[in-house]
Amino acid sequence: MAIKADHSEMQLAPETVNPIAVPPTNEFTARFAEHWMDEYKAAGRMDKPHAIEGSRIRGSWAGKCARQIAYYVNGEEVTNESSIGGFWRMEQGTIAHEYWQGCAESLLGDDCTVEAKANFMGTDGSLHTDLLVESEKYGKIAFELKTINGFGFKVAVGLMKKGEEGPKHDHFLQGALGAYAHEADHLCIAYISQENVNPKWADDAGLASEFCAEWMYPRETFAPYAEAEIKRFQAILDWVDAGTLPPRSIPGLMPKGARITDIGKSMWTLKDETGAITDTGTLWGGKYCMYCPFTEKCVADFVEEAFKEDS
Ligand code: SF4
Repeated sequence: MAIKADHSEMQLAPETVNPIAVPPTNEFTARFAEHWMDEYKAAGRMDKPHAIEGSRIRGSWAGKCARQIAYYVNGEEVTNESSIGGFWRMEQGTIAHEYWQGCAESLLGDDCTVEAKANFMGTDGSLHTDLLVESEKYGKIAFELKTINGFGFKVAVGLMKKGEEGPKHDHFLQGALGAYAHEADHLCIAYISQENVNPKWADDAGLASEFCAEWMYPRETFAPYAEAEIKRFQAILDWVDAGTLPPRSIPGLMPKGARITDIGKSMWTLKDETGAITDTGTLWGGKYCMYCPFTEKCVADFVEEAFKEDS
């Protein structure tokens, strides 16, 4: 039958407000979250003692801001506690670790050890390595397992059109320290993404699954990084033992010699020997210091240091 008129523009129903799009109420979920947090605290899940009692440095501080590490070593009180969301994210990571370690034990039996403890830099440093595996092909492998958000995972496996990026610098450093302390032949950094990537993309990136990736490094690659990080930790302890605080610097994220000069913007500045600024940049889009447990303390010290310099 021939079409007599075009009614495609006609309104089929009177325009109404979408009844589903109402503002969130926060009646129950926020209370559930608070209750979860109370139970999490009561169960002692927040208490994370050093791997070996008496050590002053944790391996998990690898790659962190030197000033932040010094605050930890000095036993400073946290001025900026993580939100419930932050603890929730951490717990998701812990649960994923426990599952993965359980899988390794079932699959590999005596060829693997989970939560392997070791000292480094004498007894001043201690760490847990997530997994040690004896393998015919690689010898002793120290695994650093990391849960990561979907974006970070995509960047790491080269799906963000920036090329292959590999694991994050601090994850690599932490793994390198563990592998070094356990005298491993290889370091394996394994990522578990909290969001699946498209199966086709996973295939294109050469991944065996949509949420896991791993990178293997021989001793000659990881050992120099571990040694440099141990040297940095030692320098931080020297600052602390001398009653001073180290500069606000973070390895791998800013050029050597650069300092954080604007905590609110997580901005670093590099100066030449005459004091002239030669380069600047921001960390994590200006949010790095926002996630630090000592932001308020650090800002107060910054003001005091600036006052001393001026007077
Ligand atoms: S607020 Fe920033 S500069 Fe200060 S200790 Fe924390 S990470 Fe370092």
